[in-house]
Amino acid sequence: MEEKFKTLSDKLKEIKNISSAVALLHWDQQVNMPPGGSQARAEQIATLETMAHELFVADEMGVLLDDLAGTDFAYDSDEASLVRVVRRDYDRERKLPAALVEEMSRTFALGHQIWVRARAEKDFARFQDILVKIVDLSIQKAEAYGYEDAIYDALLDEYEPGMKSVEVNRVFDALKVELVPLVRAISEQVDGVDDSCLHQNFDEQAQWDFGLEVLKTVGYDLARGRQDKSAHPFTTSFSINDVRVTTRIFQDWLSPGLFATMHEGGHALYEQNIAPALEGLPIADGTSLGVHESQSRLWENVLGRSRAFWQFYYPRLQTYFPAQLNEVGLETFYRAINKVTPSFIRVEADEVTYNLHIFLRFELEQALLEQRLNVSDLPEAWNAKMEEYLGLTPPDDALGVLQDVHWSGGAIGYFPTYTLGTILSLQFYHQALQEMPDLPEQFQRGEFANLLGWFREKIHRHGRKFTANELIERITGAKQVEVGPYLAYIKQKFGEIYQL
Ligand code: ZN
Repeated sequence: MEEKFKTLSDKLKEIKNISSAVALLHWDQQVNMPPGGSQARAEQIATLETMAHELFVADEMGVLLDDLAGTDFAYDSDEASLVRVVRRDYDRERKLPAALVEEMSRTFALGHQIWVRARAEKDFARFQDILVKIVDLSIQKAEAYGYEDAIYDALLDEYEPGMKSVEVNRVFDALKVELVPLVRAISEQVDGVDDSCLHQNFDEQAQWDFGLEVLKTVGYDLARGRQDKSAHPFTTSFSINDVRVTTRIFQDWLSPGLFATMHEGGHALYEQNIAPALEGLPIADGTSLGVHESQSRLWENVLGRSRAFWQFYYPRLQTYFPAQLNEVGLETFYRAINKVTPSFIRVEADEVTYNLHIFLRFELEQALLEQRLNVSDLPEAWNAKMEEYLGLTPPDDALGVLQDVHWSGGAIGYFPTYTLGTILSLQFYHQALQEMPDLPEQFQRGEFANLLGWFREKIHRHGRKFTANELIERITGAKQVEVGPYLAYIKQKFGEIYQL
């Protein structure tokens, strides 16, 4: 049996090596590659992905998994978890014809470059044809996977295993009831918070250096990581010992660079703290995008926009920008970084309005997959929902329907994980606070090791061994995603800032 297990691990590591090479090609595409390389890169990625797919879905892999299914390893052992998770992946991927995998891979890589140009020119029409193809391929993929109730579930399952859209609706409905009126109440007091201190001239290199200082002190290991610039910040990993982040910096606005760095840092802490024993295996990864996002949102918002965090870091930040910030008090800065404004761009949205952007995309994606909405009508449908949720009409497609990268890369079914992760960040943090009530005092002293250690122990080290729901139950005792801690946090924090 041990020999069979070794055979399985070796085969899986070989496939993971190919996937890591694909990830490196994607990283390079976004960080270094000249635009001229896009066609060739799409072909390179398609070749490697098809190769990895064929190795993975081979009959031989199924026989190995069958043979190993009956072994009596404990449920939470690395061995049983590997067999269980890989079986799920295998059954799923076997459903996809190789020709569809290759077609998707090429189309999605190409879609990215077309989207970049369309967005630069603020012209949805340039993106429309390829998006029709992407939606069509996504429907084919969902049909190949199969589903019980909603076609959306087949795609959502790829990012959030086991999650169904009916469950997403339960969570979103509970949020909408509270958030929509809250945004309205805050909007009536738009002058309540002045964030002009964030809109000054902030030297790019100094922003970069401060961001790196924060990453290092919260525990990101630069000997096993690096930071680069890209149009859209992201985290990628080729090994537990090579986890990279990117950020983007605006000279005239401090927030985007600062919070993108902390957001990606949260993702990277998850990946760097997976147990070394899982290295090279497909379970050495975040268990779901929602759980992954719970870590990035935690560092970006729950800590990164908290008073305690800045009681430590604000004097440090002032040493980087004395001319801009020495006359700005901590309280003014704290309120500025928490200003709530309905806005066009999701990634720049505050903690309160952020989820409204997700509701919009989730509803549009459902309509596209169920073929209730044509791609050609998408810009209009987008603008109508922006008006409904945020009271705004985008002046052009770049500030509207073209703003996100996801659809261009075939990532339909992905958006709900952002809000699920936001909710989970508070559900987990609420538990951490019960076990370590003095965490905020620790943050005031610049001490983050206990919190990081708690998450390493409860979540990071397990990689994909447990599903999101299993983790929620192991950590908090709850059976599902609960919105209570998030809503209590939002109401308390913004109630104070806006005196509601
Ligand atoms: Zn993220």
